[in-house]
Parts: sequence; C-alpha cells; structure tokens
Amino acid sequence: MNNILIIGAGLCGSLLALRMAQRGFEVTLVEKRPDLRKVTQDAGRSINLALSDRGLRGLRLAGVEEEAKKLCIPMNGRMIHDAKSNTFLSPYSGRKDEYINSVSRPGLNMLLLDEAEKIPNVKIIFNHACEEVDLENASAVFKDFNTKKELKIQADVIFGTDGAGSAVRKNMFDSHKFLFSFSQQWLSHGYKELEIPATENGGYRTYKNALHIWPRGEDMLIALPNLDGSFTVTLFLPYENSDYCFANLTTPEMVYEYFNKEFPDVVEMIPNLADEFFTNPIGQLGTVKCSPWHSFGKVLLMGDAAHAIVPFYGQGMNASFEDVVVFDEVLSSLQQPLQKKEVDWNIVFSEYEKRRKKDADAIADLAVDNFHEMKEHTAMEIFQRKRKLETVFEAEFPEEYYSKYSLVTFKESISYSEALKRGRAQDKAILNLLDDGKISEEMSLKEKLELVKKETEAILHDDEVAFG
Ligand code: FAD
Repeated sequence: MNNILIIGAGLCGSLLALRMAQRGFEVTLVEKRPDLRKVTQDAGRSINLALSDRGLRGLRLAGVEEEAKKLCIPMNGRMIHDAKSNTFLSPYSGRKDEYINSVSRPGLNMLLLDEAEKIPNVKIIFNHACEEVDLENASAVFKDFNTKKELKIQADVIFGTDGAGSAVRKNMFDSHKFLFSFSQQWLSHGYKELEIPATENGGYRTYKNALHIWPRGEDMLIALPNLDGSFTVTLFLPYENSDYCFANLTTPEMVYEYFNKEFPDVVEMIPNLADEFFTNPIGQLGTVKCSPWHSFGKVLLMGDAAHAIVPFYGQGMNASFEDVVVFDEVLSSLQQPLQKKEVDWNIVFSEYEKRRKKDADAIADLAVDNFHEMKEHTAMEIFQRKRKLETVFEAEFPEEYYSKYSLVTFKESISYSEALKRGRAQDKAILNLLDDGKISEEMSLKEKLELVKKETEAILHDDEVAFG
C-alpha cells in the first residue's frame, strides 16, 4: 500500500508529491503539459500570485519556505488608484510584520518540481493527460501528447490535483457508482492579463511593494509586481450587458477610450495595450464545490480539483497548500509511526474531508464577498473609514484585534470557517456602528474597540440562535 499516483503537477500536486515522498511513499506524478522548466508556457494565465501565511505554512512543512521566499516581493498593502488618478496606500494590517507576497507561479512550481525530483522515490512524467480513472482499482489511463499512445498506471492510491477542470473529478461525476454532488458557478466577469513592463533600466514604473487596485464599481484592474521590474496587470470586466464589457471592446480605439476614461494613469504604463488586449485570452472565473472528495478509499481530490474558487481573496493556492498541511496532520494522527506504510486510506480520506470541507466552502464564499469589496467597497467612504479604524485597532491592540482580512490571510491558526463567521460579524458590527454614528471622535480608541467587540459578540450570538 505505498504506491501513490498524483495526477496534475501544478502547485498543489507538486507540493503534495514532495511531502508524500518525504514521508517515504513511492510517488509517481503525472502532468498533462510539457515540463515548464524546459518549455515556456502559460501566456496570459495568472503569471504571479499572492502568497500568504497559509501557503507559506505548506511550504515550511516541506522545508522549502526559505527558497520560496527568494522568489517573493512583499506587498504591504493595497495601493488604491481612484478615478482621478490619486493614490493612497491602505495597509493590509496594522501589525508591521503582516504582509502578503507576490510570487511567480512558474517560479514556485519549478522550485517544487526541482525539490520533488531530488528525492529518489519520486518519478515525474510530463506530456501525459489523464483520460480515465478506475476509481475502485486505483489505476488511470493517460494519453501521451506527442505519440498519442496510451499509458496505464496502476497505483495503490490516486490523488487528483488536476485543477479546476479536473479529469479525475469528472470520472467521479460520470461513474454513477455513488452519489456525487457537484456545483459550478460562473461569475458574470472574466479576466484578461496585461503587462506593465520594467523601465529601460529594469526599474518599476509604479510603487513596487503593493498590490495595486483601480476599483471602478463593475470593473476593476489590479497589478502585482514581478522580480524583473514588471507588473502583471489583470482586468476584471463583465462579459456583456454593461457600458464597458468584453463584448463591447472590439477595436483598439474602444480599448483606448475605455482605459483613458477609467484608468488614465495606466495607459502610459502599458505600451502594448491594444496588442495585448486582443492577443491575450479572456479567462473564466468560477466556484466549484463538490462532495464527496474521495471514493472507495482509492481516490482523493485536492486543491482546485476539489474546491476551485474565484481569486479575489488571493487564497486558491494558499488553500491548496493548506490542504497538504491538513492532510499531513490527518495522516500523522492516523498513521503511527510516521514512516509506517500501511494506511487505511478510506479512514484517512474521510477524516481529511470531514476536517477540510467546511473550510474550503468558507473560503469559496469569502472570495466571492471580496470580489464585491474590491471592485466597489474599496472606493466607498464608509469602507475606507472602517478600514482605517481596523488598521489602528491592529496597530494599537495587536493581540486583541484581527480584521476579517487578517483572520483569513495571516491568522493561519484559525480555520477559514471560523474566520468567515467572526470576520463577517465584525464587519457588520463596525459598519452598523459607523453608520449609526455610535463611534464618535470623543471616544478613546479602547472604548471604540470595546464597543466593536460587544456588538460583534451580539451579532455572533444572534447568528448562533438563528442558525444553531
Ligand atoms: P493548478 O495550479 O491549476 O494545477 C493543475 C495541474 O494539473 C496543471 O499543471 C494542469 O496542467 C494539470 N492537469 C490538468 N488536467 C490534467 C489531466 N487531465 N492530466 C494530467 N494533468 C492535468 N491563488 C492564490 O493563492 N493567490 C492568488 O493571488 C491567486 N490569484 C489567481 C489569479 C487568477 C486569475 C486565477 C485564475 C487564480 C488565482 N489563484 C490564486 C488560484 C490559484 O491559481 C489556484 O488555486 C492554484 O493554482 C490551485 O493549484 P492546483 O495545483 O490545485 O491547480
């Protein structure tokens, strides 16, 4: 019972392969695409990502945190660009040591593959797409991208880490051998990636250590820095039925008109705006929920394959890395001693899903909340007052107060589901108090904090009574 097949060598699959190999399992990792260390790919597909504490914890578990940090650029806050091109920095936290990191997706993926490959009990196969999984017998059939030949791999257990469009999940859905619940919800917005290149001498064209946001209500632009001085820019825009939408932006003149009106300070920073706009694909954004994540004690879904979420909390990869941490903890608690190879996978998988599912659902819902917060609320006065107050609370009472964003992003000791419950109650409490004018300038900061805490507890109590 020690041959593990991992399908999909993206971020989750390669970290999982590394960790399972460190635990002594024989690991075969199979990826549909070519080896990204040899072939450049992924044009227009989320080139950089925000890596935060939950993700770093996963990397730490596998002993690669320090190497990964060399690929990171700290981002201390959101740099908001308003419609008049004014900017202001809204820190992510009042605690100085809390920030998120911009990291290159291929850079991080390559690091994980390199580290996994150093372990003799890991074999990595590229260019092979999984087509079929025998769920009851833990075997899978792959098609070689070049020769079109089939390859069948027999394992003791299979992990499906093949992303949001998972073939492994589709096999579970299509099998009709057990009740499989599945939902997929698309956003009305798609995304397109653009680039602010580095200056001629390799410098940054705007402030480096922030996640830049241009919130415009229905549409939004964001930019994350890269190590080479460039920024990856992502435009989130409705597909249709809006003054500005992908369906309407059909000529370079229209694209320039739109950008000049909505994001005038960006136009001069993207010299190839129209070219990139019409060359780069429109990506879709959706939430996938399903259950069970496992079948017959032979197959388990992890990462986006189990729970794809929209990217507005910057947590999809972080959650996928946290999956590996939680799985490792479950394995340690049920497989004694650490290196003993006999595992009752059915029990491990069930226990893992029991612990993890509610948190995956919570971060999915939080990510949709943040979609609205980022595109609309960051530009609204009451939300800016709330944010300022929370930042001061965190600076003055670092042990006592964590905003919803901090609970999700920095407080990895509490689960996503707890962060959702407490974070939403706190948000409601502060907004109510500000709206009713109950937080006044005359009050001391401590009095304000006590009032927010009291109101939060009252809301949590009411929720408890209402939802049990
Ligand atoms: P993936 O990274 O998608 O990897 C799946 C792998 O499986 C791929 O290599 C794929 O080629 C392979 N594969 C697919 N099908 C098959 C098959 N049939 N056979 C074999 N292999 C297969 N997350 C964050 O934490 N922070 C962010 O800032 C952030 N920003 C994002 C921005 C955008 C625009 C998007 C779309 C996502 C963002 N995410 C972010 C989410 C993050 O990208 C995902 O959550 C993360 O990549 C999940 O990792 P994964 O390994 O599960 O899936």
